[in-house]
Amino acid sequence: MSGNPALLMRLVASAYSVAEKAGAIVRKVLHSGELGIVEKTGANDLQTLADRLAQKSICASLSRRFPKITIIGEEDLPFEEVQEDMIEKGQAEEILQKSCPEEYRAIKEEELVVWVDPLDGTKEYTEGLLDNVTVLIGIAYGGRAIAGVINQPFYNYQLGAEAALGRTMWGMVGLGAFGFQLQEVPADRRVVTTTRSHSNKTVTDCVNAMEPHEVIRVGGAGNKIIQLIEGKASAYVFASPGCKKWDTCAPEAILHAVGGKLTDMFGNPYGYNADVKHMNSAGVLATLRNHDYYVSRVPQSVLQALKSE
Ligand code: AMP
Ligand code: MG
Ligand code: MG
Repeated sequence: MSGNPALLMRLVASAYSVAEKAGAIVRKVLHSGELGIVEKTGANDLQTLADRLAQKSICASLSRRFPKITIIGEEDLPFEEVQEDMIEKGQAEEILQKSCPEEYRAIKEEELVVWVDPLDGTKEYTEGLLDNVTVLIGIAYGGRAIAGVINQPFYNYQLGAEAALGRTMWGMVGLGAFGFQLQEVPADRRVVTTTRSHSNKTVTDCVNAMEPHEVIRVGGAGNKIIQLIEGKASAYVFASPGCKKWDTCAPEAILHAVGGKLTDMFGNPYGYNADVKHMNSAGVLATLRNHDYYVSRVPQSVLQALKSE
């Protein structure tokens, strides 16, 4: 597309470049060896210098270019002037070239909400499980997740110097998803992916009720959606509060862009307006296919333990 790309395309093109810069920050902090770990609500809820710096860079870069958009980041940070070298000004050209879906062409800045998880999988980052880590920038309009960018800063890190380190995926409902090869688990196999560091009895009971052939326990909400779209897992099952809107907005948009679904454990969608509660209290259930099957397997005892929003 030439001329004047729609606001949404310009925003996603910026978010793509901004997520790559955040990914570079996440790598740089790791290599510095000084993670600056802070416990938020407890030992399983951490923040590092990388979370703080990446969020500053993302929020300052996007709000400079799109001052009227509401941007909600995970980390509670004191207001500070941001250094100029933290600002990313690039826009991914391949995104600007694409045509905006008709229903999004007239969107105004004031109507958009951006949900930012500057580093998803912080616990795993501190433990060296580096491919679990993602940077998530989700875009919502009318309360729905409509576009998202996922940067995986350490993609390929186990292959060593000869492989390109890091990658960025993006997607938009009505347009598709890019930066990865869409694959599915064979329809007759149930592979469930779930948390590795935030488990409890309800979480485990619910995973077992799916009668999985295999269970993959990995960190990060972004990383688990990557498992779904790359044919490693058929369902992401997390029957517990703990995930927040910034964990699910970008992953949900990319999953929906390829025909998948993300809901609470009741099968109800989450809303992403600026005033919603941050916690996804009724859990997360995400699939590429056969969502209804997984909803139907959730035990009553699990539903009673959770509360629909
Ligand atoms: P996990 O699957 O455990 O990696 O969690 C996915 C996302 O939800 C990460 O951003 C976690 O930090 C967050 N999360 C899940 N459960 C909790 C919890 N009990 N406390 C804090 N954060 C959580
Ligand atoms: Mg997170
Ligand atoms: Mg985070």
